[in-house]
Amino acid sequence: MEEQRYYQKEIETMPVDELKKLQSEKLVKQVKHVYENVPYYRALMDEKGVKPEDIHGIEDLHLLPFLTKSDLRDAYPYGLLAVPLEDCVRIQSTSGTTGRRVVAFYTQKDVDLWEDCCARAIVAAGGTKQDVCQVAYGYGLFTGGPGLNGGSHRVGCLTLPMSSGNTERQIQFMTDLNATILCCTPSYAAYLGESLVEKGYKPEDIPLKAGIFGAEPWTEEMRQGIEKTLGIKAYDIYGLTETSGPGVAFECCEQSGMHINEDHFLAEIIDPDTGEVLPEGSKGELVFTSLDKEAFPLLRYRTRDICVLSRKPCSCGRTHIKMSKPMGRSDDMLIIRGVNVFPSQIETVLLNEGYQPNYQIVVDRVNNTDTFDVNVEMSPEQFSDTVSGVTALEKSLAGALKTMLGINPTVHLVAPKSITRSEGKAVRIIDKRKLI
Ligand code: ADP
Ligand code: ZN
Repeated sequence: MEEQRYYQKEIETMPVDELKKLQSEKLVKQVKHVYENVPYYRALMDEKGVKPEDIHGIEDLHLLPFLTKSDLRDAYPYGLLAVPLEDCVRIQSTSGTTGRRVVAFYTQKDVDLWEDCCARAIVAAGGTKQDVCQVAYGYGLFTGGPGLNGGSHRVGCLTLPMSSGNTERQIQFMTDLNATILCCTPSYAAYLGESLVEKGYKPEDIPLKAGIFGAEPWTEEMRQGIEKTLGIKAYDIYGLTETSGPGVAFECCEQSGMHINEDHFLAEIIDPDTGEVLPEGSKGELVFTSLDKEAFPLLRYRTRDICVLSRKPCSCGRTHIKMSKPMGRSDDMLIIRGVNVFPSQIETVLLNEGYQPNYQIVVDRVNNTDTFDVNVEMSPEQFSDTVSGVTALEKSLAGALKTMLGINPTVHLVAPKSITRSEGKAVRIIDKRKLI
């Protein structure tokens, strides 16, 4: 077996009982920090009748209240900040979702630890200072670009801060500068692969050896496809803006589940309906507690991602618990072209624009790109409009949806009463992508 490399060996291979002790110590401190500095969370704790003194270690975690996305919205923008604003050096935010925007704050230490997490992922994928790391995640408010960029610097790779898009330029830099590691969303990796094949590249002509792909769900089949066309090993990486960004968990050489950076993030699996904590190996909703975050330390944050945790020993030598690929969500959030989309946002726009909320969202993946169609029923008056009149209405509604969601849908206005009414819950989403 090839020699294993770690970015922070002592932590990544720490015996589990020591790791739990470390987590316990950090948790006690973190709860105190949050209680003293975040009135919003203090009120939640007071309501539940729990005080920082009640938390002696990770065994008491279940006593703490949960945080949800709606708390983040209520507390927007500063309500969950736990340090003076002058100690913050950065914000990042979730992708273009007005009304559901999450703004996360970072101190310099928060940025440093986040970059360490991404560096661990790069080293686990075989990265060293000899590598050329092409970061084709978006840069800006989105966490993908900045996170992997920082990680790549820490490892000492030559970093190509490409950002997303501009495929011609991606291919030119990849081939001219011999990029060996590619970081981007799996759908963009597949698209780049196809573009390279179209240009006549064979896997052996492509300098890449590994890819670190995440921020959206992808299947084993997709992994195999990408590995074959690019001639690489493709590793999964997971994260969310609320906890820092990518690098909360990453795959090792086993490529079966992602090690959670447990020294920084304490993970639980709960029953999404009852909130009850489930034993290891159960399928349920993933909940994270940030153990080290200074500026934006979320305790028991419900991710809505459904997955399974496993502490089975891993051949890579890392002791940190592994999470399966997310198997779905316990809310109705869709991830379309990497952007979080909630049906409720579409409903809001429809009502604002004078439509009834009779609609259907159809998502598919064609040539590795998500298609996003919204079918909306017209009113009887609109229905008698001219074809060009309807086209103009479709364009204007698409524009309003784009403003709300940050991505462009194709709107189809359809005849009144033509969207099937269901007996029970309306079928609002038809997702043909079969990602999970
Ligand atoms: P990001 O900046 O990573 O896209 P967001 O906060 O916008 O963060 O979205 C986070 C959500 O993206 C997660 O809760 C999860 O549903 C999804 N996600 C992130 N990484 C992965 C992954 N590797 N596989 C499946 N879903 C993922
Ligand atoms: Zn491993």
